[in-house]
Amino acid sequence: MTKKIIVSNIEIEIKRKKIKNMYLKVSGQDGKVHISAPLRTKDDTIINFATSKIDWIEKQKNKFEKSFIQSNINNVDGEIHYVWGEPYVLKIESGSRTRIDIIDNILLLTAGNDSRTEQYEKILMDWYRMQLKTRLPYLFDKWESIIGVKAKAVTIRNMKSRWGSCNTRDNRISINLQLAKKPVICLEYVIVHELVHLLEASHNAVFKGYMDRFLPEWRLIKKGLIY
Ligand SMILES: [Zn+2]
Repeated sequence: MTKKIIVSNIEIEIKRKKIKNMYLKVSGQDGKVHISAPLRTKDDTIINFATSKIDWIEKQKNKFEKSFIQSNINNVDGEIHYVWGEPYVLKIESGSRTRIDIIDNILLLTAGNDSRTEQYEKILMDWYRMQLKTRLPYLFDKWESIIGVKAKAVTIRNMKSRWGSCNTRDNRISINLQLAKKPVICLEYVIVHELVHLLEASHNAVFKGYMDRFLPEWRLIKKGLIY
C-alpha cells in the first residue's frame, strides 16, 4: 500500500511492509523520497521521523538536482557544452570584443585577455539566455493558441532545481535558462506544462489529462529531462 505525505514541501512516498524498522531513501534516479515503515506504524510517527531527517533529505535532493541541472562545468578549453541538445567543444580565445560563435562543432568564446573563468560563465549564460529569447515568443504564441490560455509575463531564470514555474495567481511563468542546453522539445514540454497550470494548478488527473491531450508524448520527454 502506497501513500504520499508532504513534509517541508517535499513529497514523500510511504510504503508499509512486513519489516521491523523504518527506512528512508532518496532515489539517485529521480530524486524522489521514499520511506518504508513497518505495517502498523502510525502516520504521525512517520511524519516525525521524516521531519527529524529533513536536513539530510534536502541535502540528498540538492545533490540530485545539481547532478541533473548543473553538471560539473569548468569552462575550460576542450570541454563539451550542449546547445539545443547538440554537443559542442568549447574553445576560448582572447580578443578585443566579447562574443560567442558556433563554428561547426566548436563553441568559440572570445573574451578579453584578463577574463577569468567566472566571467566565462557569465558570458555563456548571457548567450544561452539570448538563445532562449529568440525561441520563446514563437513557442509561446504557438502553445497559447493551442491550449487557449495566455501568460501575462514570461521570465527566463537560471534555476537550480526546476525547469519552469507558474504563478497561477497572476499568470506569470518562469523558464529555466538551462533549457537552452536541452533539445527544443524539452523547452516545448516545459512551456506546455506551465501553460496547462493556467487551466489546472496542481499535478492531478485533470492536469495529466490536459497534458495527454496537448502533448501526448510528454511522459517520455519528461524522462529525457531527468536522465
Ligand atoms: Zn507543475
